Amino acid sequence: MHVIILGAPGAGKGTQSAEIIKQFDLQHLSTGDMLRAEIAAGTELGIAAKTVMDKGELVSDDIILGMVESQIKNSDKGMLFDGFPRTTVQAEGLDKLLRSLEQEINHVILLDIDNEEIIERMLARGREDDNEETIRNRLEVFNNQTAPLIEYYRSQDKLSTVLGSGSVEDIFARVAKVLSA
Ligand code: ADP
Repeated sequence: MHVIILGAPGAGKGTQSAEIIKQFDLQHLSTGDMLRAEIAAGTELGIAAKTVMDKGELVSDDIILGMVESQIKNSDKGMLFDGFPRTTVQAEGLDKLLRSLEQEINHVILLDIDNEEIIERMLARGREDDNEETIRNRLEVFNNQTAPLIEYYRSQDKLSTVLGSGSVEDIFARVAKVLSA
């Protein structure tokens, strides 16, 4: 089983992902975490990515698809994709890759939450790219580049919308219901 967790920055994808992989024995694939690991290791890719990430913009589709492809090919587990895909090009690339492996995405969970709550949560979290200006830019990038994926997966009949406000446990209960169905 492969699952995508979709939602605006700050919607709680990372928190829910940690619960989901435990309960459903999936491998967590977070492109944000992978990029932060590259930055921490001081690689060329990391140095280039940091400039883009600090502005709240997206790292290029080629780089992201390359990173994801090697992870998928080196794993025999179902994946939980977190923060990926973020563009239509990435979604189409993922479909193509999975098709070549005779696999597919089984569920797409959309964590639905309003902008005000997102900004509050992210300012409280205080990561390096969590200042108000970058957050606003990331929300705009989400609306322009990632939100079209909602229709993309809805038209494949894979999308389930889950209310993303409330306690971590409440939200997870809603997610688990979808994935157990
Ligand atoms: P959040 O979900 O809080 O926005 P992430 O950790 O998923 O944070 O991503 C942080 C930053 O890393 C993004 O703003 C973007 O610059 C970069 N990034 C992560 N995943 C992708 C991706 N799939 N495509 C392009 N850029 C990405």
